[in-house]
Amino acid sequence: TTDGASRIWFDGALVPWQEAQVHVLTHGLHYGTGVLEGTRVFGTAGGPAVFRLEEHLRRLLRSAHMLRMPLPYGVEELAAGTVELLRANGQGACYVRHFAFLGDGSMGLDMRGVRTRTVIASWEWPEQRPSGGLRLKTSSWRRTDPNSVPPAAKATGPYLNSVLARREATDAGYDEALLLAADGSVSECSAENVFVVRDGVLRTPPVAAGALEGITQDTVLVLARDLGIEVRVERLLRSDLYAADEVFVCGTAAGIVPVASLDDRGLPAAPGGVTKRLAELYRAAVSGEEPRYAHWLTRV
Ligand code: PMP
Repeated sequence: TTDGASRIWFDGALVPWQEAQVHVLTHGLHYGTGVLEGTRVFGTAGGPAVFRLEEHLRRLLRSAHMLRMPLPYGVEELAAGTVELLRANGQGACYVRHFAFLGDGSMGLDMRGVRTRTVIASWEWPEQRPSGGLRLKTSSWRRTDPNSVPPAAKATGPYLNSVLARREATDAGYDEALLLAADGSVSECSAENVFVVRDGVLRTPPVAAGALEGITQDTVLVLARDLGIEVRVERLLRSDLYAADEVFVCGTAAGIVPVASLDDRGLPAAPGGVTKRLAELYRAAVSGEEPRYAHWLTRV
């Protein structure tokens, strides 16, 4: 990652990796006033391609808007910056972090007069998944309440919620946390949306349950409809997961990952048949093997 040849796109210019630094009195460092995206570049027959870049950048802009954070670049400039960076770094498959945060100049909570800094970085970050599926544990931490901080904004500060939940789960010997919303319904995992399959019907919780509007979640919904699988976006209880035929989680970093158990209640099969079909089609879509999803790919 810190290979001396690597560049980082910082406020519109490519700078050497080690020179992309900020002052300790950076607003975003103290108050979590930042927004971020995680996007993947996949290898395809025509070279590396960014998956759903425009959707990620549009979500970044929406997140900044919700925080009242001015973002000095639009989707087109950020997309061009992304391609410029990836070409300069000469990476194949990798992970891209788009990131904007309030810089130094004032520590005032009303954020006025603080300039936004904008960053694009890329590094190799292979999908990590335990063989045999994830072991999930319902977290003692509730997902951030939408009327405290909007979980629909992919903002840096609220990740403390994910960090607390993930660490609690791994300290207890599990792979990942399942977070519930304030009303007790299922929200999502620390960095993935969750899906359940029962009697062939695929269900996932809505944004109103505190879940991020996941781009992989959206991808899965499109792929499932195209496969003729019935899909529903609706509130779920943790017992819907205990009673499921299949459960999987999905996100940009993780991909589509089967769940082996929740709270030590094993699921019948991981991966189950629906999960397998979706994971295969997802793999074909991101690698450019399925022409009907070619519009999701931006060639580097
Ligand atoms: N939920 C949370 C809390 C996340 O951090 C992520 C990862 N960005 C996701 C869900 C999955 O979203 P996406 O598919 O857009 O990566």
